[in-house]
Amino acid sequence: MKYQKIIIGSGAAGLFFAAACSAGAGLILEKTDSPGKKLLLSGSGQCNLTHGGSIKAFISHYGSAGKRIRSALYKHNNQSLMDFFTEHGMDLLERPDGKVFPRCLDARQVLELLLRLGRENGWQLKTDCPVTSLAVQPNGMFLINGELETKQVIIAAGGCSYPATGSDGSMFPILESLGLKIVSPRPALVPITVQNYPYKALRGISFPSAVVRIDSHQLTGPLLLTHNSFSGPAVLDLSRYAQSGSSMEISYASELTTLPKASSSKKSAAVFLAERLALPKRFVEIILKRAGIEPGKKAAALSGKEQKTILRLLTCDTFSISGTSGFSSAMATCGGVSLDETDLKTFACKKYPGLFVIGEALDVDGDTGGYNLQFAFSSAKRAAVAASNE
Ligand SMILES: Cc1cc2nc3c(=O)[nH]c(=O)nc-3n(C[C@H](O)[C@H](O)[C@H](O)COP(=O)(O)OP(=O)(O)OC[C@H]3O[C@@H](n4cnc5c(N)ncnc54)[C@H](O)[C@@H]3O)c2cc1C
Repeated sequence: MKYQKIIIGSGAAGLFFAAACSAGAGLILEKTDSPGKKLLLSGSGQCNLTHGGSIKAFISHYGSAGKRIRSALYKHNNQSLMDFFTEHGMDLLERPDGKVFPRCLDARQVLELLLRLGRENGWQLKTDCPVTSLAVQPNGMFLINGELETKQVIIAAGGCSYPATGSDGSMFPILESLGLKIVSPRPALVPITVQNYPYKALRGISFPSAVVRIDSHQLTGPLLLTHNSFSGPAVLDLSRYAQSGSSMEISYASELTTLPKASSSKKSAAVFLAERLALPKRFVEIILKRAGIEPGKKAAALSGKEQKTILRLLTCDTFSISGTSGFSSAMATCGGVSLDETDLKTFACKKYPGLFVIGEALDVDGDTGGYNLQFAFSSAKRAAVAASNE
C-alpha cells in the first residue's frame, strides 16, 4: 500500500500532528491496542497540558536542550496551544502554580478531541501494529514493516518511560540502523535512590520547600520521602543530572541557620526540635539517631557539637547517588534521537528530509509542570506545517 504520510505512534505528539495536518493524511500506526495510553495517565489523569506565563521562561525547564528548541517553542507557544484547545471547545484552567489543565480535569477529553480532529483530517488509526522495520528505498520512499510505502514518516514513538504504555524505545535501534545518532536513553523525572537510604519507615513524609543540589544544579521545591528513594518535584526535576556515584545534598529546612535555644526547655530533643522547626517527629527522631543521639535525650542537654551535627543533617544532608527507580516509574526520558540529526525548525531529519522526529523520541526532557506535553505539541505542530508544505 502507498501513502503520502505515516505517523508511527499515537501518543500526544503523533495525535497532535494528525490534528494539525490535513494534507496527505494517511495512517497512524500504534503498537498497543489503544491510542494515547500515556496521555491518559498524564497529570494523574487530569492532563497538565502546558504551563502559564511567558514562553521565555520555558527555556530553562529543558536542561541543556532548552536553547536549542527555542524556535519551536516560540513558534507554537503555550498561548497558541491554549488557544488551540479553547477554539475547539475545551475550557482550560490555570492553577495558581501555573499548571494548565482542561477545566474538566479529564485527560480522556483531550485524547478524544485529538482523535476526532485527526479523523476529520482524514487520518486512519491502526492499533496492534508495531513498527518493526523502516527502510529507505532507492526512490527515496520509506518502506515500513516491508509492506507500507510512504513519502513521509513521522516518528512519534516516544521514549522509554512507562514502557507498559507502549513507549519502550523499540524505534531507537531501527532509527540507529538508518544511521541516526541515538543518545543513550536514561530515566528522567524519576525518584533518585542513594546508598544507605535512612528513611525507609518515613514513606509519604514531605517537605514543602527543600533545597536539593546535584553537582552545580540546585532547586528549591517540594521533596517527598518514599520507602526507598527521594521523590517530589525538586528531586524529579533534578533527576536528569543524577549519575551513580555523584553526591546529592539536601536541606530539609532551607531557612535554618542555627538550632533554636533549648536551655530552658524540659522537653526531649525529638519533641522540642519537631515542634520548634515544624518538622515531623518521626523524621527528627531518625535525624537524632543518625547524629548518634538518643531521641529521648533532653533538648537542654544537647552539646554544642551535637547541635552542629543535627544542623548539618537538617541543612546539608549528603548522600551518594546509587541510581534511580528506573524507566518503570520515570515520567520522561533523557536521550533519544540526537537533536543534531534534525532541523529544529521543522523536525525533519537532515539525512532524510521526509523523515520527521517529534515529541519524546527526541533528546529533549522537560521539568514537571506541563513542559513535556508542550514540547510534544510544539514539535508536532512545527513538523505538521513543514510536512504539509512539502
Ligand atoms: C505517569 C506520567 C504522567 C505524566 N504527566 C505529564 C503531565 O501532566 N504533563 C506533561 O507535560 N507531561 C507529562 N508526562 C510526560 C508526557 O506524558 C510525555 O512526555 C508525552 O506523552 C510524550 O508524548 P509522545 O507522543 O512523544 O510519546 P508517547 O506519549 O510515549 O507516545 C508514543 C506512542 O508510540 C507508540 N509506539 C512506540 N513504539 C512504537 C512502534 N515501534 N510502533 C508503533 N507504535 C509505537 C507507543 O505505544 C505510544 O502510544 C507524564 C508522563 C507519565 C509517564
